[in-house]
Amino acid sequence: MDIYKILKTYFGYDRFKTGQEKIVKGILEGQDALGIMPTGGGKSLCYQLPAIVLEGVTIVISPLISLMKDQVDSLSEMGITSTFINSTLEEDILQERIKDIRLLKYKIIYIAPERLESYLFINLIRDIDISMVAIDEAHCISQWGHDFRPSYRNIPKFINSFIKRPIVSAFTATATKAVVEEIKTLIEFKNPVESMIGFDRPNLFYEVRKIVNKADFIANFVKETYPDESGVIYCATRKSVESLTLKLRDLGFNAIGYHGGMDSETRNTAQESFIYNRVQIIVATNAFGMGIDKPDVRFVIHYNMPQNMESYYQEAGRAGRDGEKSHCILLYSPSDIVKQKLLIQNNPVSLERENLLYKNLQYLVDYCHTNDCLRNDILKYFGENPDVENCNNCGNCLDNSEMVDITLESQKILSCIYRVGEKFGVSLIIQVLRGSKNKKVLQFDLDKISTYGLMREYKEQTLREIIMTLISRGYIITTLDKFPVLKLSNSSKEVLKGEVKVFHKKHLMEEKKEKKVKSN
Ligand code: ADP
Repeated sequence: MDIYKILKTYFGYDRFKTGQEKIVKGILEGQDALGIMPTGGGKSLCYQLPAIVLEGVTIVISPLISLMKDQVDSLSEMGITSTFINSTLEEDILQERIKDIRLLKYKIIYIAPERLESYLFINLIRDIDISMVAIDEAHCISQWGHDFRPSYRNIPKFINSFIKRPIVSAFTATATKAVVEEIKTLIEFKNPVESMIGFDRPNLFYEVRKIVNKADFIANFVKETYPDESGVIYCATRKSVESLTLKLRDLGFNAIGYHGGMDSETRNTAQESFIYNRVQIIVATNAFGMGIDKPDVRFVIHYNMPQNMESYYQEAGRAGRDGEKSHCILLYSPSDIVKQKLLIQNNPVSLERENLLYKNLQYLVDYCHTNDCLRNDILKYFGENPDVENCNNCGNCLDNSEMVDITLESQKILSCIYRVGEKFGVSLIIQVLRGSKNKKVLQFDLDKISTYGLMREYKEQTLREIIMTLISRGYIITTLDKFPVLKLSNSSKEVLKGEVKVFHKKHLMEEKKEKKVKSN
């Protein structure tokens, strides 16, 4: 059989995207498959094409209920019979579909993972020749991933329940090495063909900006860089989605909001308006975007820092799916850390998982404070070893800001951490350095130590900026829990002894320094 012909006839493409062919061929030879490919890499085709060729029915497990209909519609346009079963269906429609599934009317069936808990469904499937089970968003099976879904844990049992084990294929766009290992262990692949496309997206320009007036920044950026092109702005909360949408509209932009608190019709309208270019900008919470296939998104701006690098990479990765140059800008402010910590605290999970969430959050905080190549920082997170030190295509590599020596400031901060016995967090260290008479400072007699008031003339934000920078460079380590305590790393000694100098961007240091207070 000629897979190129099928590619052309059904999908209309002349060639495979990187990694697709290997997976398709492997599956058609009866092998299991694992595809780790970036967003926009073309994962769907990796299971849809073999599904057409294989004799029986393919089941696709996906958590993205809202997208199943779209997938089924586009398959039907291609002349492939498919359907979906999820909780959105009315009982009579569900029964009808089940009947049609029995009559083998469909080649591909999309299901939500919760369906695997239904005996009715399992019994139904048992009587049918299932050739393949394809698992979309496979990272949801891993409790180390950022999007763990307990119902994914039923997948291995489901696969093993068949008398003749179907081919198993699994796909994800976001998986660190630990997550990949967990997927492999849990799914128990048989001789799988693997396709791991690197995480680099060379057409994306990554940037972190520390901006006070974010709305003005966005307005200027869009006007100057992409006056007529589409973009997504991600906010941490529904409230900020609403207020930013209004603000952008006041500034003359054609913007629409999208968040989980809106009813599904309003959300669908917003999504379609964006996809069909009736609005330029969609302002959204992270409820927006999974699986949205708009190729020409030219910018993704994060109004707030997300909770971890996986989410950031995935959301930012919605820019430039067509391969054209696009911008991914993260607008960082320290209050985002507080916001994200609150979100973690308000979502009860085991202590172990909570600490993991804090650790993941810290990686992204470090990303916001590094002066090194941002692209490499992302790639390293996903376990890659970048070939070059500088990509020369990110905000940090192209930043020619003047640098200033902050070794002395760093030494004072490190000494203070040492003097307080490495027992306190960022806020208290700052209060001690600024000579605060805060209750806690006095309660622990911290006003009696030698570093008390040593940096009175510095603004709170400046000290926070330096501390975060020292954390991101590994001179300070933090415990990874609800109340992180600052401790000195081994390498901090080099700074304390003056063997290593610390530099930082001048504009981040100067702006915020208060006039010296005269001491007499
Ligand atoms: P993913 O699920 O990996 O994010 P999709 O499966 O949604 O990606 O595919 C992303 C885009 O790439 C879609 O618009 C799809 O039609 C397109 N695409 C997939 N395979 C090919 C191909 N071989 N040639 C050209 N475009 C392709």
